[in-house]
Amino acid sequence: MVLDKLSSSLKETLSKIAKSMFIDEKLIDELVKDIQRALLQSDVNVKLVFDLSKQIKERALKEKPPAGISQKEYLIKIVYEELVKFMGSESQKIELNKKPFKIMMVGLFGSGKSTSVGKIAKYFMKRGNKVAAVGLDVYRPAAMDQLEQICKQINVPVFIDKKEKNPLKIYQKFEKELSGYDLVLIDTSGRDALSKDLIQEITDLNNSIKPDEKLLVISADIGQAAMSQAKSFHDACNITGVLVTKLDGTAKGGGALSACAVSGAPIKFIGVGEKVDDLETFNPEGFVSRLLGMGDLEALLEKAQGAINEVDAKDISKRLLKGEFNFVDLYEQMESMSKMGSLSKLVDLIPGFGKMNIPKEMLEGQEDKMKSWRYALQSMTKKELEDPELLDGNRIERISKGSGVSVSDIRMLLKQYRQTKKMMKMMKGMGSEQDMNKMMKKFQGKIPKGFGI
Ligand code: GDP
Ligand code: MG
Repeated sequence: MVLDKLSSSLKETLSKIAKSMFIDEKLIDELVKDIQRALLQSDVNVKLVFDLSKQIKERALKEKPPAGISQKEYLIKIVYEELVKFMGSESQKIELNKKPFKIMMVGLFGSGKSTSVGKIAKYFMKRGNKVAAVGLDVYRPAAMDQLEQICKQINVPVFIDKKEKNPLKIYQKFEKELSGYDLVLIDTSGRDALSKDLIQEITDLNNSIKPDEKLLVISADIGQAAMSQAKSFHDACNITGVLVTKLDGTAKGGGALSACAVSGAPIKFIGVGEKVDDLETFNPEGFVSRLLGMGDLEALLEKAQGAINEVDAKDISKRLLKGEFNFVDLYEQMESMSKMGSLSKLVDLIPGFGKMNIPKEMLEGQEDKMKSWRYALQSMTKKELEDPELLDGNRIERISKGSGVSVSDIRMLLKQYRQTKKMMKMMKGMGSEQDMNKMMKKFQGKIPKGFGI
């Protein structure tokens, strides 16, 4: 996997959050230090690391999680969001919106331009496009043969002229033929460094060919040096995007990616191996979720967001703390939980929890109980929901008939409600709301299951 080391340190950090009793400043400090260490080891620029960790710490200390989402989940959300921002936020896809769409590859020697021509060709061919490649690397003797070989492997027509030494002339020679393709990939020659000579060559080609996309190809193994390279190419040649190659073979990838992200040129693809299929479109959200080892974090966050919106207005936890909690709150909480999917699925989605090996039967039992409680609550009148103490034997009987939930299950619901309420009352008046919050965390294990707060 790409960025193994960074990924495993970040995962470890997140599981620390999941395992901790509660979130306090000490834990946040520790977390920020862990993240700093992980990023620095991945050759991320010190200033960038500092800015990022400052941002995470500030948010973690200042922001309060909305009702319906735990402090731990919220902290993970902050880390995730800040890392995504760090990697460039939005995913930038290349859409072939004209014909022929022209992508010109630029970059230094050995960065992976020619290899990437093959990869991008395959990527768009798979999506039903007619693709051709043109070889304009007149610098290195074997360059044309290499491109020919790469293209032959995937059956992409390749246009080269091994005798011509003027790249623009080569292009012009084939221009008419190329207009019949959906996508034309233009391989250019590099240099050892960004020289005047190279800038001139790219500028000339750019002015005549007018590519729709100028992709700078950068090798990830240069780490944070990618920043100055991306910047100078950006300033000199107006590149429209970056392809970071060789992420598979270096521990410095974090540095290269973050450096490109701040250079102002968006990362559009990443190269993750030597083979023609080792190309991925770069999507910061997906990339960071994978890095953090949360297969479906995005889905969880979206669902959590939906639930937050629902619950927010009521702010149930506040009512709970004041001891004003009733069945209406409980019902609403259950509804938003059911919108988030099954409990067992949720547990899989929450980082760290997957590792805790909660027996599936336990969750399933809990889910069944919640389901029947929801039915019972649906059969209650508004008055009963607002004041559960109204429930006497007759009412319970009626609700049981209406909902198909057994009398004993409804009694259990009532009992758990009373226990929770009693505990909340006990805690009431023990101190400020903040103290209470702390207390709640300590008591959390003792709150009856099903009343997950
Ligand atoms: P160019 O000079 O910019 O055209 O670079 P090449 O395409 O010739 O690539 C230089 C070397 O890097 C070749 O050996 C490629 O196989 C290798 N390479 C390119 N992209 C990747 C990648 O994503 N991962 C790995 N491991 N090697 C790559
Ligand atoms: Mg080449």
